[in-house]
Amino acid sequence: MINVAIDGPAGAGKSTIARRAAAELGFIYVDTGALYRTVALNALRSGVENTKNPEEVIPTLTNAKIELKFIDGEQHVFLRDEDVSQAIRQNEVSMAASNVSSIPEVRSFLFDLQRNIAKNNDCIMDGRDIGTVVLPDAKIKIFLTASAEARADRRFKELKEKGQDVSYDVILKEIIERDNQDMNRATAPLKQAEDAVLVDTTEINLEESIELMIKTIKERL
Ligand code: C5P
Repeated sequence: MINVAIDGPAGAGKSTIARRAAAELGFIYVDTGALYRTVALNALRSGVENTKNPEEVIPTLTNAKIELKFIDGEQHVFLRDEDVSQAIRQNEVSMAASNVSSIPEVRSFLFDLQRNIAKNNDCIMDGRDIGTVVLPDAKIKIFLTASAEARADRRFKELKEKGQDVSYDVILKEIIERDNQDMNRATAPLKQAEDAVLVDTTEINLEESIELMIKTIKERL
C-alpha cells in the first residue's frame, strides 16, 4: 500500500489540500484530527470539566467506540454509531482536541486505528505526528505550513462563510496557542520529520497549493 503522510499546524489547509490530492490520485483521505476531536467531544459530553486532566479524560475512553467509515470517498467519523462528523467541527471542540491529544493514553488509544487504515489502503493521512510516529515508513512525507496570520485569515473567512460570529484576533490567538501546545507537548509533538518535504503556502492561494501538493507527491511516487 502507498502511504502519504501530511503533517502541519492547525489551519494550514491540510484537509482541503489533502482531500483534493487524494481524489486526484485515487487514494483515500484520512483526517486523523477528527479522531482526537471525537475523543474530545466524547469527554465534553461525558461532563469532563478540564480536558487537560488525564484523570478526568482517561476514564471516558472506556466507552469511546470510534470508527471511521468512507462513504462515497468521504471520511465520516462515528462515536458509538452516531455520525459526529459535523459535531466535532464546533470551535470549542478544537481546543479540547488539542488538550486531550497531549495525553499519552489518548494517543495510544487511537494508534492502531490509524495504523490499520494505512496498512489496508493507499491513503493520504494528515495530522501532527503521522510522518514521525504513526507512519514512520510512509513512502512520502510532507510538512505543510503557512504563517500563523495567513492561517488565521483563512479560518476566519471559512467560519464567516458558515455564518459563525467570530473575531480574527481571537482566532489568531487560538491558532498560536494551539500551535504552541501541539509543538511543545512531551508525547508526539508536532514537528517536521527529517525526511519530510516542506511545503509553505503562505504566499500562494488554495488552487496553487493543491497543484503544488499533487506535483510534490507525483514526483515521488
Ligand atoms: O487537525 P485538527 O485541527 O482537526 O486537529 C485537532 C487537534 O488534534 C490538533 O490541535 C492536535 O492537537 C490534535 N492532533 C494530534 N495528532 C494528530 C492529529 C490531530 O495531536 N495526528
